[in-house]
Amino acid sequence: MRRKPTASNLHPHTGKIPLREREQRHGHRGCVVWLTGLSASGKSTIATELERELFRRGCQPFILDGDSVRQGLCSDLDFSERDRHENIRRVGEVTRLFADAGFICISAFISPHRADRDLVRNLMPPGTFIEVFVNAPLAVCEQRDPKGLYAKARKLKIKNFTGITSPYEPPLTPEIELPTDKLTVMQAVEKILRLLEKKCRIKTKSASRPGKVAGAIRWSDW
Ligand code: ADP
Repeated sequence: MRRKPTASNLHPHTGKIPLREREQRHGHRGCVVWLTGLSASGKSTIATELERELFRRGCQPFILDGDSVRQGLCSDLDFSERDRHENIRRVGEVTRLFADAGFICISAFISPHRADRDLVRNLMPPGTFIEVFVNAPLAVCEQRDPKGLYAKARKLKIKNFTGITSPYEPPLTPEIELPTDKLTVMQAVEKILRLLEKKCRIKTKSASRPGKVAGAIRWSDW
């Protein structure tokens, strides 16, 4: 449930462009691909490749990533339980705005709590929240440790580190589960694309081969 606004006398304005028209222009439904999992499970890596492939197919994808939003929108929040909830609440609202604009919003957040992820799901129109459990065992994530965070967390140099000193609640019924200790990055991306073809009506690979479009503007023309 959305929080009741603190302010009163609010009269939201309705625009004149229905979502359906935006979606027609983009060629797909607006939706959210919500990647959840431990640090180093592969969320950002998969998000980046997925975004590139969607863009190549002519879709409108955009990534929201934990480390980036914590530098701006959520720069006042830390990793305490209270602030983790607030972080996901804010990101959920932004995600919803992107979906309202007809984008495919790829959100890569540890988002350790089921209740927080469900809150975002409930903000979205039915069928447009695609929860992806990026599932690598803790031991694998710890061995990868691309940012050296697990090493610091084990030495207790980082407080509240998910999987070590802070809990992670795995999704019970995610739309997709990606065991990234067994799949390659591209196999993982393919699994998401197949679901997006069905749920968000993105073009299939064969229908979107890059070709020369008559009259298309090239970067060099700008
Ligand atoms: P997260 O965003 O979940 O913290 P990252 O994507 O930043 O994780 O880091 C995951 C690391 O694991 C990267 O160094 C990536 O190259 C590596 N990796 C190895 N195999 C995979 C895979 N199948 N899927 C995603 N990442 C993988």
